[in-house]
Amino acid sequence: MQGGRRAARKTYCVVATVPSDTLGRLLRDLRISVTDRCNFRCTYCMPREVFGRDFHFLPPDQVLRFEEIERVARICASLGVRKVRLTGGEPLIRRDVENLIAMLAAIPGIEDVTLTTNGALLAHKAQALKAAGLRRVTVSLDSTDDAVFRAMNGVDFPVNRILEAIDAAQAAGLNPVKINAVVKRGVNDHTILDLAERFRGTGCILRFIEYMDVGNTNGWRMDDVVPAAEIVSLIDARYPLEPLAANYAGEVARRYRYRDGQGEIGVIASVTQPFCRDCTRLRLTAEGRLYTCLFGTNGYDLRAALRGGASDRDIATLIADLWRRRTDRYSELRTLQTSVAVKPKVEMSHIGG
Ligand code: SAM
Ligand code: SF4
Ligand code: SF4
Repeated sequence: MQGGRRAARKTYCVVATVPSDTLGRLLRDLRISVTDRCNFRCTYCMPREVFGRDFHFLPPDQVLRFEEIERVARICASLGVRKVRLTGGEPLIRRDVENLIAMLAAIPGIEDVTLTTNGALLAHKAQALKAAGLRRVTVSLDSTDDAVFRAMNGVDFPVNRILEAIDAAQAAGLNPVKINAVVKRGVNDHTILDLAERFRGTGCILRFIEYMDVGNTNGWRMDDVVPAAEIVSLIDARYPLEPLAANYAGEVARRYRYRDGQGEIGVIASVTQPFCRDCTRLRLTAEGRLYTCLFGTNGYDLRAALRGGASDRDIATLIADLWRRRTDRYSELRTLQTSVAVKPKVEMSHIGG
């Protein structure tokens, strides 16, 4: 069954201790990629030349079922996970994804279920997602300039449809809606101020993300990165800003508020100011591999255990051991040396952002 709404099983898998990794980081967040497929071909994530007609996406039987995902999330909740984010690929192309949201929202210990989407299917899904228990939504939107946006999404998708979807999400109560904009030098950096202007005073929280060297296909170069500090000074010069304290320890975005009270923005400076020290995220891919870092190489095949008769306790032990052994700090190392990317890395569309 692809999962109807039902009460969560009230069983807890008992582990001796909530694990912390070799750098003392706890497991707090689970990012779940529900599909490796996407209806966009963003140039920095799934370039058309690579993810074309001949690309082999996962066959359906290799993708985790909702019951399997819920089981992993429930076990992770017993290990300390409090927040779950659905991502992809594009999570809204997974059929009945709202049923999965209802299952995850019912897990004892999970305090927050959120989702990151490109927004193309959000307008007509927003109400159902909210009704299922989704708290908030993050919409990726790299530019409000129609031509720039159409070129960046790789499928000529018009920007007004995403702006309408953001309105629909706000109306459905998925607030505050966050807007993620990846900034690439020479591509959309000239539209940063337009984005700021469009979302000031709307209640949406706009966050600029430094272009990252995820995967092996986007041709990343350091020269393409617009440092967060540059983005902040550009906006500050037009609309004065002041820094805000983090909402919680480990928040990845650095927050700023407009001094005139028109809301806040954030910058995610994963390249120039890495935050590995506070990284409490575990990632589950659509086919059931676990990654303890966005820049992982192989991941751990949890599906074999899930489908091989392992008990909840066995799986909890597997995940706890994986987390205890974790040493990841890719972005910090990238900052220290320029050539860390020697091994092939997992693609962003595969692992989820
Ligand atoms: N398809 C959904 C979307 O675009 O929101 C969810 C998956 S997408 C991989 C998650 C996030 O990763 C998006 O906000 C996207 O902009 C971001 N992303 C993808 N490739 C990136 C890159 N090379 N550098 C920085 N962020 C990236
Ligand atoms: Fe698809 Fe999201 Fe990647 Fe764009 S960033 S190609 S929308 S998965
Ligand atoms: Fe976490 Fe890896 Fe990103 Fe560092 S590079 S913040 S360890 S996901």
